[in-house]
Amino acid sequence: MFYSLVKPALFAKPEMYLLNHPLSGALDVSTKNPDDFITLFFSEESHKNIKSFAQAYAGHQFGFFTRLGDGRAIILGEHITESNHRFDIQLKGSGRTIYSRGGDGRATLKSMLREYLISEAMYFLNILTSRSLAVIKTNQPVYRETVQEGGILVRVMQSHIRVGTFEYAAHLGRPDDLRALTDYTIKRLYLDIQQEENPAVSLLYKVINRQIESVVHWMRVGFIHGVMNTDNTSISGETFDYGPCAFMNIYDPAMVYSSIDGNGRYSFGNQPGIIKWNIARFVEALLPILHPDSRISLELATEAMNEFDTIWKEKYYGMMLTKIGLKSGQPGQNILVDELLDLMKNLKMDYTNTFWDLSQEKIPEKSPIHRPGFKPWLEKWKHAIENSSNMQRQKSG
Ligand code: AMP
Ligand code: MG
Repeated sequence: MFYSLVKPALFAKPEMYLLNHPLSGALDVSTKNPDDFITLFFSEESHKNIKSFAQAYAGHQFGFFTRLGDGRAIILGEHITESNHRFDIQLKGSGRTIYSRGGDGRATLKSMLREYLISEAMYFLNILTSRSLAVIKTNQPVYRETVQEGGILVRVMQSHIRVGTFEYAAHLGRPDDLRALTDYTIKRLYLDIQQEENPAVSLLYKVINRQIESVVHWMRVGFIHGVMNTDNTSISGETFDYGPCAFMNIYDPAMVYSSIDGNGRYSFGNQPGIIKWNIARFVEALLPILHPDSRISLELATEAMNEFDTIWKEKYYGMMLTKIGLKSGQPGQNILVDELLDLMKNLKMDYTNTFWDLSQEKIPEKSPIHRPGFKPWLEKWKHAIENSSNMQRQKSG
């Protein structure tokens, strides 16, 4: 019930457009001739030997439950590197599947290049993410508002299992299906919890921690995902599905870049609340297998959800304080972060540049940090920095 077999479309003249050489090296799939990939992905001969498939899933899109599935993505298979790491290799934009509904199963070259660029940027910003092995030009037009060039992204990810996969199992399968998915996921992603007393509960905590870490990283770099539907929330904690996402310039928690997000559900400042909401959908999906007694199940789920805010606060403020040169753990420091963000919002300051300026030995002369409105905060911050370096000095004797 979790997949259906499907072959990628056979294009007449597919062409390697952009190949990620360092990544192909790291995955042990490098080749002197990029056309080898084209033959592997798009020839009848090679299709005979592959069991490629589209995944079934469901999910909450903008708050509403929907039955979904890979409508334009096909997993070619799993690749195991020489160092024994396992990855899905997926083609995105390679034709229709049984989950395509009215869609054409295609992608534009432009949007796949954008996903390549952003996912690789995220990787080099130290964020756990899907990666882009290649972009292929299909040399076939794609019809959107205008006629566009078609493209295919070769996406690499530890696993494409998402919160929506669990929602699918919970809503449309039997408890045994949910159990099978849970066992598989743990074996695939979190072997360390396999022997624990209640692996399903341990999985909850894994996902809570991983997803909080990811979104904390987004807040670090000013990233707005744009489509935080539960089908785009991975169980591995990898950020993926780069659509109408962007890196924010001027700090505004209400910022959105997606034209379809009219209400700002997935704005920058809503991301922490939304990831908590998505995790709640995950917890809900797991309820039937957390414990044989449904009352205890509910207790375990509530306990896990109640941990969210504490973990979020610790990781988020820890990261933000590091961003302004402070160590967390001293009372009253978190307010410095909140006040700084308020100032940045009111004074319409650039997110990245403000932190950059603050991190310089001497704040650059032209920086808006020198504006009068900033002065009281700056004094407080300098004081906190001095205090913390004094403490460091004392500690190191
Ligand atoms: P996304 O917003 O990219 O997460 O996609 C939501 C759902 O729509 C997923 O099930 C996609 O596979 C499907 N989808 C998006 N674009 C297309 C397309 N061009 N053809 C078929 N299905 C699509
Ligand atoms: Mg998606």
